[in-house]
Amino acid sequence: MKSKLLSIKIGLFISSTFLLTSCFKGKNVDLIIHNARIHTFNEKDAIFEAIAIKDGKIVEVGAERQILNRYTSDDEVDAGGKDIYPGLTDAHGHIMSLAKKKLGLDVTGARSFDEVILRVEKYQARNDCKFIIGRGWDQSLWSTNEMPTNEKLNQLFPSIPVCLTRVDGHAMLVNDALLRKVNINSTTIIEGGQIILKDGKCTGILVDNAMNLVTNSLPSYSKRDIKNTILEIQNELFQYGITGVHEAGIEFEEIAYFKELIDAKKLDLNVYAMLMPSKKNIEFAKKKGVYTYKNLLIRSFKVFGDGALGSRGAYLKKEYSDQHAHFGALVTPYDEMKKIAFICKSINYQMNTHAIGDSTNRLILDLYKMIYATKRDHRWRIEHAQVLDPIDFKLFSQYGVFPSVQPSHAVSDMRWAETRLGTERMKTAYAYRTLLNQTGMLAIGTDFPIESFNPFLTIHAAVQRMDIDNSPSNGFQMNEAISLNDCIKGMTTWAAIAAFQEHQLGTLEKGKDATFAIFDFPVGTSREFRQNYAYMTFIKGKKVYTTE
Ligand SMILES: [Zn+2]
Repeated sequence: MKSKLLSIKIGLFISSTFLLTSCFKGKNVDLIIHNARIHTFNEKDAIFEAIAIKDGKIVEVGAERQILNRYTSDDEVDAGGKDIYPGLTDAHGHIMSLAKKKLGLDVTGARSFDEVILRVEKYQARNDCKFIIGRGWDQSLWSTNEMPTNEKLNQLFPSIPVCLTRVDGHAMLVNDALLRKVNINSTTIIEGGQIILKDGKCTGILVDNAMNLVTNSLPSYSKRDIKNTILEIQNELFQYGITGVHEAGIEFEEIAYFKELIDAKKLDLNVYAMLMPSKKNIEFAKKKGVYTYKNLLIRSFKVFGDGALGSRGAYLKKEYSDQHAHFGALVTPYDEMKKIAFICKSINYQMNTHAIGDSTNRLILDLYKMIYATKRDHRWRIEHAQVLDPIDFKLFSQYGVFPSVQPSHAVSDMRWAETRLGTERMKTAYAYRTLLNQTGMLAIGTDFPIESFNPFLTIHAAVQRMDIDNSPSNGFQMNEAISLNDCIKGMTTWAAIAAFQEHQLGTLEKGKDATFAIFDFPVGTSREFRQNYAYMTFIKGKKVYTTE
């Protein structure tokens, strides 16, 4: 009897020690990060201190002791109380355009046309190109505030073709040598574009579709150069904690660039690529359907509704305030857009249409209405949604349309947008608060390389409605400001939903990708712009960037 009791006691002792040690040792995981402020963006917007990660997924997020008691890992990071957010997504960017911009001449920020010319001369002296390609000029930064003309370029480069694209990518300045090469003269007629003349002669300014003739004749960069530059860009994105980009329009050939970099295990960035509606891309989409290739997801088309406001290509309901009888124009004919919409509907693709002017926005909202009738949760997007007739805002919620906006545009355009639109229309332009109130969600991006992809500039523009110089001092149209939390959700949770990736990305919760960034400084906002960087960036549990 006695010995039986003893053996039971010993048994109890053994099993409880075993329990204790196994509890003490915890479950083994690949990575534990603790002593952090982890903004989970779960339903309760909970903030926790620690996170356990295994096989690229989040095992658990919770209180410091809870995680450290339950799990062990050879790889533990003490985050020193820093902020952790889900990896940021730029919901509208152009990696390919930025790569090409980096490979060519950059004239961004030039404060006069003379400075542009000077940069072209210096660039050519160094590179001795047979074809000069540059990008980034913006006449609204010059005291003249007028579109440039090509005389100086003709004098300097009588036989070498020169092509300088405006910062917004919707206009370019080319010299006569290039106009001759592509057979453009003062009598050429272009649908959905303009060849600007002065005294009956080409000025060298081509707007929207008029640029296509030139774009098709530009020499292409080598695949190797482009791929290396994409990796350079990836690293710059990681430095800001950006782990994903919605690539707003790629050509068929460019799909291969991303796939090859993924195969070489060099591209970790999540790329949600929207296809340009070319014949080859439409064939691709019909054949492949919703297409996932590791971290590349393709299930949408990007369509250009109209041009940009800066080059007066945005299509407005009423004439431009600074150009009589000018309305801008559609760059893709309506029937063509309708055709693409039906293709998208039939293959379960999303349609993402660039719409700047109020007229284009209304046309597209009405076009999307037909899909809403059959599919409530279609998530078709309007990219930019920049100028809206007040009576059209409600259509976003009525037809379930997802606005994809770029707050940096508001504070870049504020200097001249009112000249184009007049006071009344200006009140409902760059109206992110009103859009958010309609839909409850915004996808937020930058449209890089038109703007910098620095997400802290986006936060400053969205929340303080100020540019990098903290101007204007009381904020631009403050009634349209959004909160810091909503702005970050636009770059995380809502961006994931806007790309059908919410099962995997956008919040830090059990089962989702361990894709997040630890930031150097507390992520906040103030009337003084404060720069911030990622201290470490992780994608699927892999450390892709660190300052250490
Ligand atoms: Zn864009």
